[in-house]
Amino acid sequence: MKYSNREEHFDAIIVGSGTCGATIAKELSKQNKRVLILERGGNGPLKESLMGYAKISNEIRVTNKLKDLRAFTTGGTTAMYFAVADSPPIKTFQDMGIDLTEDLEQVRKELPVAEISDALIGGQAKRLGESARQLGYDWEKKLMLIDQSKFNHKNYYEVKWKARVFVEEALRNGAVLVNQATVSKAILDNKKAIGVEYYIGKKKKVFKAYGEKIILAAGSLATPIILKNSGVKNVVNHGFYINPSIGLIGKVSDLSSEENFCGCMGAKLDDDIELMDANFHRFLFNMGMIVSAKPFRIASYPKHIGITVKVKEAVGGELTEKGKYYKKLTEDDHKKLKKGIEAANRILKNAGARKIFKTSLISGGALGTIRIKEQIDENFQTQYNNLYVCDGSILPDSDRVTPTLTLVCLAKYLSRHLIAS
Ligand SMILES: Cc1cc2nc3c(=O)[nH]c(=O)nc-3n(C[C@H](O)[C@H](O)[C@H](O)COP(=O)(O)OP(=O)(O)OC[C@H]3O[C@@H](n4cnc5c(N)ncnc54)[C@H](O)[C@@H]3O)c2cc1C
Repeated sequence: MKYSNREEHFDAIIVGSGTCGATIAKELSKQNKRVLILERGGNGPLKESLMGYAKISNEIRVTNKLKDLRAFTTGGTTAMYFAVADSPPIKTFQDMGIDLTEDLEQVRKELPVAEISDALIGGQAKRLGESARQLGYDWEKKLMLIDQSKFNHKNYYEVKWKARVFVEEALRNGAVLVNQATVSKAILDNKKAIGVEYYIGKKKKVFKAYGEKIILAAGSLATPIILKNSGVKNVVNHGFYINPSIGLIGKVSDLSSEENFCGCMGAKLDDDIELMDANFHRFLFNMGMIVSAKPFRIASYPKHIGITVKVKEAVGGELTEKGKYYKKLTEDDHKKLKKGIEAANRILKNAGARKIFKTSLISGGALGTIRIKEQIDENFQTQYNNLYVCDGSILPDSDRVTPTLTLVCLAKYLSRHLIAS
């Protein structure tokens, strides 16, 4: 989409077109608001392939050893997520004066939120679930954002809900999207935000756009940097969390199955440990084996089963003066991981798995860099009038969930507030 008059004035400028940005763009444009979306990534077709992922993925360091993965493209990180959809922690938000009940009700009508039907649970996931239940684990189905009515046993990627569909709706409503536009800071006038500065592609020539409301939805690690560049002090002053995660994969000789929506089941253990089904469909399994330097396992994909161990680590870390993130996992975090790995090993072995190996430890998604009631108020406005934040940065650490469904609700909540005001 071309955007020739770069100094036009908008009702709202939305920075980032991911889960939150796309939702807000759709909601505001539906009410005939003039919306500009500035998106750092491109707008190429989304494809689940090595090249398709390589074009949009971006990693950012969060500990001395771990990097966080995100996607730069129209629709943001939903372009490569698993579509697991925990329910929002309604009570936690209510306690902060934020009522998401109405938003959740609407979201449930608009999005394909449901547990996977039994018929779509693959043999690998079934075997894993049986083993976990035999050992006494509360292994339950999870909600997912998948259009099961369109599933044809091949199109795992296509049937996942992606935020890009909301951007497309916003564009049909008249919103303007500029791709390859990296926002560096908000333009402030006294105590008020009046616009943003951005550059296109790698060229550092600065452009300016002006609007009534400026909404930062660039993701939990990008938004704090924009705030910091804009002169906001003490960003990320409480640190953040990354839910460190590790996979365990094993081979079961008498199994042969290929039907799996990864993450469709799991169990919560004591001590903030969660076990999740990690039975991928073939493409993601192949990618995982290449990354884990086990390419010879690819041929026997139907015999492999896997579990992800995810733990809640202590909140901490910082955004340094140089604009880099840093946090250190504690001994206690590693103890939780060890306990989770032992449980996962038991379940895999009981399912008949042998030759079990561990994948590398990864960041399970850096979130919670900004606190509601401290850096932003209950309408997500910063200390500057008309400057708002709505993305993974504002998710509280007390009640951690897989974020997408909660983020869509938070974006709807902010949109309601902006429309009313
Ligand atoms: C492999 C993987 C699997 C996942 N699986 C799940 C899952 O099953 N369930 C779940 O709920 N969550 C999952 N997640 C996490 C989930 O996708 C993200 O938490 C969620 O998409 C975050 O939404 P957001 O709006 O905060 O940011 P994003 O969706 O990341 O969107 C931010 C957007 O802002 C753009 N941007 C960044 N910086 C700038 C800038 N300076 N200027 C302009 N634009 C900018 C980016 O390009 C991006 O489009 C997964 C994540 C990964 C990586």
